[in-house]
Amino acid sequence: MNNTTRQEKLDTDVLIVGAGPTGLTLSLVLQRAGVSSLILDKLETGQNTSRAAVIHAHTLEVLEPLGVTADLVRQGLRISRFTLRDRDDRLLGLDFEQLPSRFSHLLMLPQDVTEGVLREKLAAAGQRVRWGSRLEWLQQTDRGVDARVVSRAGVEVLRARYAVGADGMHSLVRQSAGIDFTGSSYADSFVLADVDMHWEHGREEVMLFFSPAGLLVVAPLPDGRFRLVATLDDAPDRPGLADVQALLDARGPTRGRARVSCVHWSSRFRLHHRVADRYRNGRLFLVGDAAHAHSPAGGQGMNTGLVDACVLGQLLADVLQGRRDVAQLDEYERLRRPAAEQVLGLANRLTSLAVVRGAARRMTRNSMLRVLGLLPPVRHRLQLQLSGIARRAASELPDAA
Ligand SMILES: Cc1cc2nc3c(=O)[nH]c(=O)nc-3n(C[C@H](O)[C@H](O)[C@H](O)COP(=O)(O)OP(=O)(O)OC[C@H]3O[C@@H](n4cnc5c(N)ncnc54)[C@H](O)[C@@H]3O)c2cc1C
Repeated sequence: MNNTTRQEKLDTDVLIVGAGPTGLTLSLVLQRAGVSSLILDKLETGQNTSRAAVIHAHTLEVLEPLGVTADLVRQGLRISRFTLRDRDDRLLGLDFEQLPSRFSHLLMLPQDVTEGVLREKLAAAGQRVRWGSRLEWLQQTDRGVDARVVSRAGVEVLRARYAVGADGMHSLVRQSAGIDFTGSSYADSFVLADVDMHWEHGREEVMLFFSPAGLLVVAPLPDGRFRLVATLDDAPDRPGLADVQALLDARGPTRGRARVSCVHWSSRFRLHHRVADRYRNGRLFLVGDAAHAHSPAGGQGMNTGLVDACVLGQLLADVLQGRRDVAQLDEYERLRRPAAEQVLGLANRLTSLAVVRGAARRMTRNSMLRVLGLLPPVRHRLQLQLSGIARRAASELPDAA
């Protein structure tokens, strides 16, 4: 029979390119649904750097059926307060304990730990990542997708029914699908550092400081560390202790000591503000940073990708197992692209507010935020947006019928 012949010739139903947090999550969803998938990454092993450090309430909700949320919560640090400040002035405060969610907090956890939890779950479910395997070329055929993959073992062409680009900002899958990544790049870079420091302002709160010199975030991490994030025009590749201390001195609180004693990890990255014009072209799909890239203000990037992966995984499983018609694959873009646009808007507003220049404009901004901060509906809306709960509907597939 035609269908059987086709199945025999395919290596897998879903080829996932990229084993970052988004690809790992997608693989886990498919594995649990009983769909055959193959996940590969050009790296020799998973990345072990800190990068995205917050997991929001809505992400924890959508990851719960995969059995990873409890592990993440166990290893992370729960924080319930988020404040916007200008040096010593507290402009606006959010209390996440009021969130309408089982997870009424921000969960601070370095990205390498998050990826480790996902990889362990995947391995326990019997799925292995093919590390050291680089996608070189991809093409849709009338029966599926052909992908040329290079590894130490040589070159092979893998055949799949669908392929998903979880291959990050410079996605080859996106280019192969002929999908533009529309948007722009910010002039600033972001500096990130995980540090030990003497800090007299507690470990119960994430603080976002506005300053004419740029934004500074101070967030507690597990193991007594702090994550510092700052915008900087000409940031060094690997900011050192003196660079990080200078940022704290120039932008942080003037009262109370803030003295960095050790930089465990630091990095710099350029900011982009882009969304893929489409999330699907035929049998090719985009998830995570391959589909959207934006400022880390508000910590939304990885979170949005993880929700993308859960939605697309469920949809592909439903279609491949006959519960939905193939035409419903368009639901993925219909739900998730507007969610990314909302996230981009939020991250852009926070970044622009943070870097307002000129004393008069700063005073106006601060007064406006102080007034807005007194209004419960405004605070509530901002909490829902930051936690992702405002975008719950964008993760809910319509009934399969
Ligand atoms: C230095 C740095 C700091 C960051 N800090 C923050 C932060 O503070 N907050 C925040 O929200 N976000 C932050 N981010 C962004 C966050 O890390 C990303 O949103 C997240 O990693 C996206 O996950 P992903 O799985 O979509 O893509 P990625 O994590 O980029 O994973 C893509 C994977 O695809 C693989 N790949 C690419 N091309 C190919 C190919 N041709 N063949 C095979 N494999 C391929 C790559 O090796 C990689 O492992 C930061 C990113 C960086 C680089």
